[in-house]
Amino acid sequence: MKTILASLIGLVSLAWGWGAFVAGSTAGGTAPWAIRQEALYLTGLLSIALMSFAVLLAARPAWLEGPLGGMDRMYRTHKWAGILAVGFAALHWLVEMSDDVIKALVGREGRLPKEKYAGFLEVLRDLAEGMGEWAIYAVLAMLALTLWKRFSYRPWRFLHQAMPAIYLMLVFHAALLAPADYWSEPAGWLLVLLLTGGVYGSLHSLTGRIGRSRQVQGKILSIEQSAADIVAVRCRLGEGWRGHRSGQFAFITFDRAEGPHPFTIASADRGDRTVTFHIKALGDYTRSLAGRLQAGQPVTVEGPYGRFDMARRNRRAQQVWIAGGIGITPFLAWLESLQTQPADAPAADLHYCTRDRETDPFVARLEALCESLPKVCLHVHGSRQGESLTATTLAAAKGKGRAEVWFCGPQGLADALKTGLRDTRGGQFRFHQEAFEMR
Ligand SMILES: Cc1cc2nc3c(=O)[nH]c(=O)nc-3n(C[C@H](O)[C@H](O)[C@H](O)COP(=O)(O)OP(=O)(O)OC[C@H]3O[C@@H](n4cnc5c(N)ncnc54)[C@H](O)[C@@H]3O)c2cc1C
Repeated sequence: MKTILASLIGLVSLAWGWGAFVAGSTAGGTAPWAIRQEALYLTGLLSIALMSFAVLLAARPAWLEGPLGGMDRMYRTHKWAGILAVGFAALHWLVEMSDDVIKALVGREGRLPKEKYAGFLEVLRDLAEGMGEWAIYAVLAMLALTLWKRFSYRPWRFLHQAMPAIYLMLVFHAALLAPADYWSEPAGWLLVLLLTGGVYGSLHSLTGRIGRSRQVQGKILSIEQSAADIVAVRCRLGEGWRGHRSGQFAFITFDRAEGPHPFTIASADRGDRTVTFHIKALGDYTRSLAGRLQAGQPVTVEGPYGRFDMARRNRRAQQVWIAGGIGITPFLAWLESLQTQPADAPAADLHYCTRDRETDPFVARLEALCESLPKVCLHVHGSRQGESLTATTLAAAKGKGRAEVWFCGPQGLADALKTGLRDTRGGQFRFHQEAFEMR
């Protein structure tokens, strides 16, 4: 994610640099005014470029899963592209507001003349300026709500649906106020490309077409309350379902008014279009879910998505699989898929961290699945039994050599293990993580 966002920022800065230093777009102005003008262009370009990328990613283009590492990562990239875009938008606004300060310090002399157009175009440019200002206030407010984690997800998601429309206001602003010279330079070409992607994403979203090509109807076959806070839902999907790879997830709509929620498909693909989800009561909606579902009820499933795929493992690296709580779901699918050819199962250590191994609903199932897979060694860590998993435990259990960690669980545990592994193994490990949080 960092590399992709840094590359985009680098590319936009290069394109801006061409306009500023090669084409000399602000030649003729004195230093303070020329710097202000170029800062205005740079911050504006960076903001709209990152925003366009964020809006494109929100349309869930499945063809980007490969280069970006899966849909869960795409959502994280979307989030950080959005945050950076708003940061640059705020800077853009501050630079715009700086002219009074510069006037007070050095006077009007050397100020670059404003691009002037006649008639309707000038009216549109005035409108674009006002629209840009209001859109910046709106995205700043949205960023504050996004970062304020105590603001409930449901109203946040409702408000977030306004983003594609706000983005179109920013496109209007950028297209009309970018310097005319840009359209014959790299900055303009890049802008056209990014705006096309962003407009595609926003129209896709505004017309309700996100993920539609991957949606199928199905119905609930059975529901089982496997623990007080976990419900297992088995569904049969319609003809259009293209099957899934173990470890992938899907967006499920049980109730149209609520909309889709992402859940891992916790079963292997048996070719009969049945899928199982284990859903933990982690919030308002999932807490009340068990009481609302019944066998025979229709569901809409969109997917599959994700790249938490055992087939992508490095066959020369030690396999360390780690699940925390409900993060066991992709591993259940992996273990199930290995049952047909146990001899092909890779040698792996599967660590399952649970609050209480005695009452946990998955331990018996994991033991049964691992019994037929002699190369997969199951380690259950019950916190109540004082068996917490640490990086030191992992390092002590395995010798030297490259390790590949596949992790699905709470972010706090992931961070602690990553830091600990870095200290104990240096760069000798690779960490794949399925992100359960999209906001
Ligand atoms: C790739 C992926 C796979 C997942 N697999 C499982 C699984 O197998 N089992 C399981 O129990 N949970 C899984 N989750 C988590 C599950 O999606 C959330 O717990 C659930 O959506 C919470 O909804 P809520 O309204 O009850 O909670 P809320 O309190 O409203 O939300 C809690 C958090 O859940 C996330 N969330 C809520 N609604 C949505 C939504 N519509 N779309 C995206 N994210 C949302 C947000 O990060 C939010 O901050 C997975 C999440 C992801 C991203």
